[in-house]
Amino acid sequence: MDRLDRIILAHGGGGVLMRDLIRDVIAAPLANDALAQLGDSAILPVAQPNSAGRPATGEGARATGRIAFTTDTYVVQPVFFRGGDIGRLAVAGTVNDLAVVGAAPLALSLGFILEEGLPIADLRRIVASIRDTADEAGVRVVTGDTKVVGAGAADGIFINTSGIGVVPDGIDLGPSRITPGDAVLVNGGIAQHGVAILSEREGLAFETPVASDAAPLNGLIAACLAAGEVHFMRDATRGGLAAVLNEMAQDGGLTVEIDERAVPVDPAVAGACDLLGLDPFTVANEGKVVVVCAASDADSVLAAMRAHEQGRAAAVIGRVTEGHRLQTTGGTPTERTAGGTPESGRVVLRTVFGGARTLEMPYGEDLPRIC
Ligand code: MG
Repeated sequence: MDRLDRIILAHGGGGVLMRDLIRDVIAAPLANDALAQLGDSAILPVAQPNSAGRPATGEGARATGRIAFTTDTYVVQPVFFRGGDIGRLAVAGTVNDLAVVGAAPLALSLGFILEEGLPIADLRRIVASIRDTADEAGVRVVTGDTKVVGAGAADGIFINTSGIGVVPDGIDLGPSRITPGDAVLVNGGIAQHGVAILSEREGLAFETPVASDAAPLNGLIAACLAAGEVHFMRDATRGGLAAVLNEMAQDGGLTVEIDERAVPVDPAVAGACDLLGLDPFTVANEGKVVVVCAASDADSVLAAMRAHEQGRAAAVIGRVTEGHRLQTTGGTPTERTAGGTPESGRVVLRTVFGGARTLEMPYGEDLPRIC
């Protein structure tokens, strides 16, 4: 049997396999205009109910605002790790998916799947971490659900969080807003989360232990939005920086040039990646956001990041290059500019040795159950 007739671990890796699974098997049968955004959160116009008490939609509906809606499920193993735990991830991850579409997080739901035998003390510790992280983000858990399954039917604890947020008027972010010349920034050292989880799992002790970067970024992101003309943002989770940059390049139909020397990698993380045979560009983060902004605002957005606790090591890591924009029509990329070239929709890495190579979209999974 073809192995791809069944789900394999790599389908969860944030790469090509996962993208194709989501598009073909899940999103296609459910197709609608909100789902088709396939963004970190769906953005929905909210209209006054009509006289029949139903939300008015379509022609003539008077939109009074926009909400962002997202959901995420957390299966990380181990549940507790240096720099965080499954509870911190479950809040930060969902808050970040709201924040990167420009929404102010409003409320979260919390769904637990608990395995028979899980120590109540572990659950208490996780709930305390959820509370602390929610306080840090300024968001409340307002509804939830708890299911218990028999021993062996799950692995300790799985968590689902959904989140809603309010999108302020005037916010317009997305790959179609990315413009040639734009600057590409990241708020600090990459690959920390993946390395922290793997070292925990493998019982590796490095001279300088690596802690996960799991953190809510809504404060930092709000500061970026206030500091300049931001065109696009995405948090670099599974698939790492390489996946976000490739999604951005492909969806925007543009070439993204990254200067490898400018990408912050903590020396301890770089050392661990060398030892473990990992490429930091494809390793997961849980507190890193890629921000694309107008080149003229790069300095002010960078300053806003660096002024924030989660952005001390922020850097401008590259730029969007000219003349390669494609337009996507009905899923088929078509040339918009006469000068479109095969360079379109790709990420070029200017290496430390002065050469250039394509930074590929990761295919599958380096590390399963990372988040
Ligand atoms: Mg995301």
